[in-house]
Amino acid sequence: MDFRSDDGITRRMAMLKQRVQAARDQDFYFYNQPVEEVLGGSKVIVNGREMGMYASYSYLGLIGHPRINAAAKAAVDKFGTGTHGVRSLAGTLTIHRELEETIADFKHAEDAVTFTSGYVTNLTVITTLLGRGDYVLCDKLNHASIVDGCMMSGAEFRRFKHNDMLDLEKRLQQIPDGATRLVVADAVFSMDGDVIDLPRVVELCRKYGAYLMMDEAHSVGVLGKTGRGIEEYFDLWGSVDIKMGTLSKTIPSVGGYVAGKKELIDFLRHGSRAYIFSAALPPAQAAAANEAFKVILDEPWRIEKLNANTQQFIQGLKGLGFDTMLTTTAIVPVLCGTDERAFALTQLAQRNNVFVLPVVSPAVPEGLSRLRATVLASHEPDEIKRAMDIIGQAGRELGII
Ligand SMILES: *Cc1c(COP(=O)(O)O)cnc(C)c1O
Repeated sequence: MDFRSDDGITRRMAMLKQRVQAARDQDFYFYNQPVEEVLGGSKVIVNGREMGMYASYSYLGLIGHPRINAAAKAAVDKFGTGTHGVRSLAGTLTIHRELEETIADFKHAEDAVTFTSGYVTNLTVITTLLGRGDYVLCDKLNHASIVDGCMMSGAEFRRFKHNDMLDLEKRLQQIPDGATRLVVADAVFSMDGDVIDLPRVVELCRKYGAYLMMDEAHSVGVLGKTGRGIEEYFDLWGSVDIKMGTLSKTIPSVGGYVAGKKELIDFLRHGSRAYIFSAALPPAQAAAANEAFKVILDEPWRIEKLNANTQQFIQGLKGLGFDTMLTTTAIVPVLCGTDERAFALTQLAQRNNVFVLPVVSPAVPEGLSRLRATVLASHEPDEIKRAMDIIGQAGRELGII
C-alpha cells in the first residue's frame, strides 16, 4: 500500500517527518546514533570518535563485566540461543528459575517472576491485577510503561502531583469505600532523578488500605548501601507489595521482573498475558542477569564509587550555575529551558566528545527541556571534571549559565 491518501496515518507520519527534518537541518538530530564500540564501562566510539559516555543507564558500569559475559557464554553453550516457546509450556529453563530465586533473594521477597522487558512487565502486571471498578493512583512523572498499563487495565486512573503527598492523600480520600486501590510510582524518577517519598507513601497506603507498587528501573544498584533499592535506602523492608524492576539498566541484560509474596507471583505466573502468550527470556540474557545481581553484592565498591561520582557531578554542575532540579541520584538533569537550547548544548558537548542526549517536550513539560546526563561508577573523577568543564563552557557560550 502507498501512503499517499490524506488519512490519519499519512498526516501523523508527515508531521513527525517535518519535525525530524527540521532538527536535521540545524544539525540538531542526536537520536539513534550507532555506537560502534564500547570501551570499558565509561567510553564509547561514535562516528569514529572516542567519547565519554554520559547517557548510559549502566549505572554500575557492568556492561562487559568478565563474569557476566562468561555466564552468558556458558548459557549459550548449555541451552543454545532460544527457548522452546512460552514459559508455561516448554520454555522454562533451570536458568529462569535460578534467576527468579536470585532476584527474590536480592529484593528480600518470597518469590519473583521475569518477563522479556520492563515495559511489558508494567503493562502485564497492572492489567492482570486491576480491572473495571478498581482505582489506580499514579505519580504525574511516572514512566510511560506504567501509564500505558494503567490505561489498558480499565481501572479508574488518577494522577497525583509529582511526589506531592498532600495531593496523594486527597486523591485516596476520593476513592469510594470498598474499592480496590493501587498506588504506583517510580522509585527514582527517570527524567528528574529525584527519589519518591517512600516513608510517606507507605504511611498513606496503610492508612487508606492501598496496595503499593514501585518501579525500580533506576534504583536497583543505585539506592541503598548494597544497591538493593528503595526499601533498603529508607530501611523500610517489607513496605512495597509489588517490587518491579528492569534487567536492562544497572543489570546489563534485558527483561523485567516483579518480586513479592508467593501468592502474588503464582497469580502472575498463571494469569499474566505476557507470561502466557510471549516467549521466555533467551538463556544468555537470563544467565547474564543472574550473574549481575551476584556481582553487585560481591563488588560493593561500585556503589560507593557511584555515590562519590554522583556527588562530584551534581555539586560540580551546581557550582557552575546549572539548575539540576531536585536530583540526588545518578540521573542528572541539566536544565536548559527551550528545546533549542537543549539541542545546542548537546551539539557543543558532543562536538567535544561528551556523549550526552537532550530530553525535550513532549517527554518533559514545555520549557523544561534539558540534558539528561547520567554518571556511572565506571567514570573516573578526572573524566567527570573534563565533562563538566565542557558542559560549563558550552553553557556559558549559550547563556544558560
Ligand atoms: C526503562 C524503564 C522501563 C522499561 O524498561 P525496559 O526494560 O527498557 O523495557 C520501565 N520503567 C522505568 C521507570 C524505566 O525507566
